[in-house]
This record gives sequence, structure tokens and C-alpha cells, in this order.
Amino acid sequence: MKSIYCPHCGQLLHTKEIGDEGLVPFCEGCHKPIFEHSPVCILTMVINEYNEVALLKQDYVSKQHLVFVAGYYKPGESAENTVKREVYEEIGQTVDELTYLESFYHERLDTLFLCYISKVKKAPFKLSSEVDDVNWYLLPIDESLLNPLGVAYRIYQRYKTL
Ligand SMILES: [Zn+2]
Repeated sequence: MKSIYCPHCGQLLHTKEIGDEGLVPFCEGCHKPIFEHSPVCILTMVINEYNEVALLKQDYVSKQHLVFVAGYYKPGESAENTVKREVYEEIGQTVDELTYLESFYHERLDTLFLCYISKVKKAPFKLSSEVDDVNWYLLPIDESLLNPLGVAYRIYQRYKTL
């Protein structure tokens, strides 16, 4: 995301050489650099004690394929808190254990994804209004359930190498 105006005072930004960072957008009014950043999204496979993974149906994401829990990081949280919050908000499961998998930058969405595995004890699903349906699927899953171009598919491939 490229800033043209200062997000604090609205003044037009200029670029300024800032140490090792090189040329950075700078606000003369606030006397501070305005670093460029992309939105951060967490994505997590939610796996229960029976080795089942939660696959969500979210029509606004895809009508044909299923996805894992995902959501945007909110300023002030740790990434781990974002994962726990999203897993609870979207499907009502409490995360007991978190393992970091990998990050990657999604060009089309201009978003940095941080990907995790969340271990939970199977509990009744409670769905947010963003989730149309969810079910547990025994691992390994049928990969045709996932969009081969999607983030969930990519993370599932990474998970299989563990
Ligand atoms: Zn400013």
C-alpha cells in the first residue's frame, strides 16, 4: 500500500533518506517517516485431537472450494492473539497449542499471510455470520476440496512436508 498523504496530518509526503532504509516517505509536518506496509492476515489449519481439520464454506471467498480459518491482524495484537481470536470468532473453537508454519506475500491481495497450525479439543461449532458452514475432515484430506490457486492449498502442501 503506497501512502501519498500523511495518515496522521494529511500533508503531502516527500521522500527522505533514512539510514539503512534508504528513501522512505517522510512527513515534514510530523517530522517522521511513514513506512509502507501491507495488511497482515493470519491463516490457520485448525486440527482436533482426532486428527481432523476444520474446513469452512465461505461463499464470499469461494462457492466451489473450502478454506481454512483466516482473518486480518488488528493493531495492538500479537499474531498469536489474532489466530486465537479468529478461530474462536469464526468457528467457536479454543486454541490450546499454536505452531507457526510459514509466511508469504500474496501479490494480488497485497497482503502478508502468517500461517499457523492450531490444535484444539473438538467442541461444538459456533459460526460467525461470515461462515456459511464448517465440518471436520479426517487428515489427509481430499485435496480437490481446496482451490489449487488458493492460500489454503498452498499451506496444506507445506503442512504435508512436516
Ligand atoms: Zn504528518
